[in-house]
Order: sequence, then C-alpha cells, then structure tokens
Amino acid sequence: MRVCRGRGVGRHDLGFSGVDMRISALIGLIFVLLVGCTPEPTPKPSSEKYTKRIALTYDDAPRGDGSVYSGVDRTSSFIAQLEEANTGPVAIFVTTRGMNKQEGRQRIEAYAQAGHLIANHSDTHMWASPTPTDIYIADIDRAEEKLEGIPNRRPWYRFPYLDEGSRGEENRDLVKRDQLRKALADRGLISGYVTVDTFDWHLDRLWQDAVKRGAKIDTEALSKVYTDMVLDAAEHFDVMGQEVLGRRPAQVLLLHENDLAASFTVDLVRALRADGWTIISPDEAFADPIAVHLPKTGFAGMGRIAALAADAGYKGAEFFDHWSADEKGIETRLADDGVFTESVDINK
Ligand SMILES: [Zn+2]
Repeated sequence: MRVCRGRGVGRHDLGFSGVDMRISALIGLIFVLLVGCTPEPTPKPSSEKYTKRIALTYDDAPRGDGSVYSGVDRTSSFIAQLEEANTGPVAIFVTTRGMNKQEGRQRIEAYAQAGHLIANHSDTHMWASPTPTDIYIADIDRAEEKLEGIPNRRPWYRFPYLDEGSRGEENRDLVKRDQLRKALADRGLISGYVTVDTFDWHLDRLWQDAVKRGAKIDTEALSKVYTDMVLDAAEHFDVMGQEVLGRRPAQVLLLHENDLAASFTVDLVRALRADGWTIISPDEAFADPIAVHLPKTGFAGMGRIAALAADAGYKGAEFFDHWSADEKGIETRLADDGVFTESVDINK
C-alpha cells in the first residue's frame, strides 16, 4: 500500500528537494496527502512513481563448490532458473580471485553469454575500512583487469560487505570513504549500491550445514523461507523508500551466487511478480536519481535508501531493522517452519 503519511512528504521537502524532478507529479501527491489520504488516485501502472520495480543482483561469483552443488553445476542451474523465470538481465558482481579456480572464468563468461551483466566486486573481497586506501584501490584495479574481455561488462563496483571505508572511529572523518569515491569516479566507475539487503548468505550457510550433518530437509519450506525473506525485505525498503523519498525508487536487490539462487529463483521471481513487483534490468535501476545521490552519512551497511534515510534524520532500530537481515530472525523462522529435521541414527 502507498504511504499515507504527511511526514514522508515533509522529509522529502526538507532533505531531498531536487531528487525527484517530476514536480507536477509531486504536487499531485502532496495534494492527495493534504486532502486526507484518500485511496485516490489509483496508482497508474505506467507511472514509475507508483510502480514497484526491482533489479536482481548477485554477488561473489564464481563461488566455490558447496554441499548441494559444485560451482560448475551451480552456475548451470542458476542460469537455467533465470531463463525459466524470464528475468531478463541480472547483474553478476564478480570477486575475480574466483576466476583463477577451475572453470572460474568460463562460469563468468557463461553468465555473460546468457545475457547477464558483469561487474566488479573486487579481486580479494576485503573490508575497505581497515585496509590501506592504496592497497584497496589496487585490488579494484586488479579485478577490472581480470574482467577484461568478458562481454556485457558494466562500470559498477560493489563494495564487499557494503563497507565503503567509513566504519570505525579512525574513519569517522570520512576521508577514506571520500578517497574511495574519488578513485571510483577517476576510473569511470559508480558504486553498484544495493537498496534491499538480506542475509541470504546466512540462510545458505545453514542449509549447507544441515546437508552436511544429514538433516532431513523440507525443500518446499526452505524455498518459502527464501522467498518470504526477500519479499518481506523488498516490502520493508519499498515503504522506507516512499517514506524518505516521496516516491518509489527502482530497488536493487542484493543476493549471492549460492545454492539458494540456483534452486529457488523461479519460485522467488514468481512470488515477487505475484506481489506486484516488476523485474527490471540493473541498467534501469542504476539510472534512478538515487544512483548519483551520494549519501553524506558514513552509515552504509544497509544500502542506499537506508543511508539516505539516515541523512534525512531517521533513527532507531525499529525503523531500519528487519528479520531478513538478522541471523537470529532467520534461524527462528527456519525453526518455526520445521525446515530442517535432525535424523536419528538408530545404530548409535
Ligand atoms: Zn561479497
């Protein structure tokens, strides 16, 4: 549902004038809010302001063998899932040290040949904040070199751990963050920011562990947890985006090239569409005005919309936190749904 909160518009006017250039549409929204949150006007599907749009992006490819899929099989299965789901292009953010592994480069080329977009997620996946700036930038450059010759490249850099160099007391002055921003700009790169963050990596790890210890796995229930995790997170940041920006920005979903993606992407995309989302290309998502609206805050770990919310003065765990980005929250949901059942060895 649409935001029917005068506060959202106030924040927009105070903090974000100039973000949304469609002034006439904004005046229309203000009018609607002033006259009392009536259900009119009906959102027009053709209007970006009211359309739930989300781009799918996957980090850390090519990841190594897991207990469900080998790396090579995972890539094949994932590409097949994306094709069956008819997603169009998704973004694959490559950690290029993985390209040294067996068939690592071929796996990235396979994504590109399937029409997906290839971008930089560093060579060795370091935290930016504790790493000397020159070493960190050299790692970005090394990744760009290794990606040379791969089709469908895009000039996007995704910070590992969403650490943009502003964590910790020693980086509070934001000098390192700004040096890294300048380094990206000097190279013609933009931050491949996210707006919808989930802990899919934690859910995947729990699944891998359950397989290893021989637990019985309810695959349908696991898919439902994965899907609900993403749906609820998307809803959370959709509401936040409207609250903070007074419009619906194109969302950028952060997931990982893991066995969950290789197994449940068809289910996930079906559920997103049933919930009113349109899957868009990352090209469209990174053309949103928030792509050039660099946050002032050093708070970067929950993505671009959360950072812009912090800039606008929003505070508190209640506003920002969500079970999809919480290890305990995910574990509770798995237990509640009985996804893993421990097997009993009768010979013991
Ligand atoms: Zn990563």
